[in-house]
Amino acid sequence: MSTLPIRIYGDPVLNEVTTEIENIDGRIAQLAETMITTMYEAPGVGLAANQIGVQKRLFVYDKGDGPVVVVNPTILESDGEWTYQEGCLSVPGLSWEITRPNAIHLVGFDLDGNEISVETDEFEGRIFQHEMDHLNGVLLIERLDADQRKKAKKILRTRDLQLAPHDPDGLRQLLED
Ligand SMILES: [Zn+2]
Repeated sequence: MSTLPIRIYGDPVLNEVTTEIENIDGRIAQLAETMITTMYEAPGVGLAANQIGVQKRLFVYDKGDGPVVVVNPTILESDGEWTYQEGCLSVPGLSWEITRPNAIHLVGFDLDGNEISVETDEFEGRIFQHEMDHLNGVLLIERLDADQRKKAKKILRTRDLQLAPHDPDGLRQLLED
């Protein structure tokens, strides 16, 4: 099982919009497998392809009952509001309370090319929105309010994230809530 290094805040690949996958073939299946292994090793609950440097619209996640792969995802509808302590493998060791829509209707495709349609909320809905942001080149930092962002950038400036090992505290918070 191979893994790839997770790209960290400051890496320009995280701010690039990913492109649609035209053929869901063996290479995409292999990419998904590498992403799942990388996600579990981190450990995290979701990973977007550009977090390992691949500019494709694909994410993997596990809300607690096994790995799921979503190719070319789209959020069709969102509703309500939910505040949750959110972290990111690309911003290791940090997490923030962030309010986003609660109920989410996500559509996409699985690795066999079958359509997926999931209507969900809370934790799974949050994962979807977080991973969709990644695929659109938006990092968690950009979801903070002005005050949070100012503080976050100060912390990130004074820290060499490229060299820092993954601090599991932020992730633990993400996994426990
Ligand atoms: Zn993330």
